[in-house]
Amino acid sequence: MSQNYYKLHTALEVVAILLIFDRLNHIIMKIAVLGFGAAAIGFIDRLKDTSHEIHVFEKSRDIYSSSISGIRADGKLFVSKDMGGDLDIDIDLQRELVDFWINKTKTQNIEKGFSFNHSNWYKRFYDYGFEPVASEFFHLGTDQLKEVLYNIFEDFKSKSNIHFHFDEKVTDIDVQEDRVIVNNDKKHVFDSAVVSVGRSGHKLVNNVISKYPGLVLDNTRVDLGIRYELPDHIVDELNKEMYEFKIKYKSKTGYMVRTFCNNPSGYVVSENYGDFVTVNGHAKMREKSHNTNFAVLTTVKLTQPFNDPVGYGSHIAKMANLLAGEGKAILQTYDHFKKSKRTKNLYRVEPTLEEKHFIMGDINLAYPRRIIESIIDFIDNLNEVVPGIAHPDNLVYAPEIKFYSNRLDNEKFQNLQFIGDCSGATRSIIYATAHGHLIAGQYLRD
Ligand SMILES: Cc1cc2nc3c(=O)[nH]c(=O)nc-3n(C[C@H](O)[C@H](O)[C@H](O)COP(=O)(O)OP(=O)(O)OC[C@H]3O[C@@H](n4cnc5c(N)ncnc54)[C@H](O)[C@@H]3O)c2cc1C
Repeated sequence: MSQNYYKLHTALEVVAILLIFDRLNHIIMKIAVLGFGAAAIGFIDRLKDTSHEIHVFEKSRDIYSSSISGIRADGKLFVSKDMGGDLDIDIDLQRELVDFWINKTKTQNIEKGFSFNHSNWYKRFYDYGFEPVASEFFHLGTDQLKEVLYNIFEDFKSKSNIHFHFDEKVTDIDVQEDRVIVNNDKKHVFDSAVVSVGRSGHKLVNNVISKYPGLVLDNTRVDLGIRYELPDHIVDELNKEMYEFKIKYKSKTGYMVRTFCNNPSGYVVSENYGDFVTVNGHAKMREKSHNTNFAVLTTVKLTQPFNDPVGYGSHIAKMANLLAGEGKAILQTYDHFKKSKRTKNLYRVEPTLEEKHFIMGDINLAYPRRIIESIIDFIDNLNEVVPGIAHPDNLVYAPEIKFYSNRLDNEKFQNLQFIGDCSGATRSIIYATAHGHLIAGQYLRD
């Protein structure tokens, strides 16, 4: 054998070894992403320029569908260590992800500000027993979110390794040692799956949980409350200072009560969960009302043998709907809410919820006493900090209920992960995007 042969042989061996190393370091995987929401976006964006083959299954008909993620959301992006989920997300990463969303708008025209940046407000709330929640916010608005989502989709679609399957509702996931089969379909076999179906995907998540009960880590919490509406001028000073005021308060009942989703010059809307209806609020960038609305929520955390917070919350919502007439919420003045008296007439505050979605009545007939007492204690105490909050003719709507998804275990299977709200770990656009981003890191090897 000539010396040249040995040289060539050795060189080929080196190339082969390098190729094996390269392959190990960049294992190309076929990944199913179930649901195209904020978490999926964070996940895909980090992997879009890798060689992984990504298949996105989304139940909505197309990207314009109003039921697709984010579009229903109000488009407020928060940077905070204290709200958005139960994950520890680095503030720099949160800011980076806010920039990601803002850069996808056409004009980059957004409202922004801080909550409790000003120590004076912080102290005023603190002195009355409230715990102010500090955050930075950026408001895209519901209308701009649509175009943002479309721009993100166009970017992802242009990548040859990303494949979209719209109008594909996922109803079943089968986890095997080396593969995951989606919808029992031989064409849908993947190395791994990432479930990002948000709250609206609870049926799929319930189905997976009943198949693999070991996935559930925690299942005891529900937030029951009301949506409160009052004229802008009462909270003008506060709204100008911080737009979104988030505070927590340990009420005299022992329950924690908090504000959620403040909408200056906003609208109260009805939210349909299929077998019951709740209220919610939103603000638009262009169209404004003269009222501010926010939720006042009481966190109910029950213990053994209780294990069905969704069932508990749904029953209360259904009870309110039963009293109000099918598909309707109850509206009451604050004075009547306190006195447990049916409201028959309103006075100075005009509701922004469309009339067909409510009936005037008495929320006390549907809600447990401890919840009502916690809410009254909260609002009356708030009146000490913001006079006028407890005016007798301000409006109270119910039911407003926030469900927490079961906290799921992402260590149970190495080829099945839950990201975003369906994992039980997040409750906001930025936290859900960050969760997707972080889990995507597990698919990157350097
Ligand atoms: C009315 C409203 C207003 C909100 N406002 C804000 C806000 O201003 N700021 C904020 O930070 N957060 C807000 N949120 C919360 C925020 O929208 C969520 O925290 C965030 O969107 C969670 O992201 P996700 O990816 O987990 O789920 P989602 O964004 O909900 O996405 C889930 C996707 O999965 C799809 N899907 C569901 N089931 C299936 C299935 N079986 N098969 C296939 N696809 C499926 C859905 O169609 C959807 O596109 C709001 C929520 C609501 C309901």
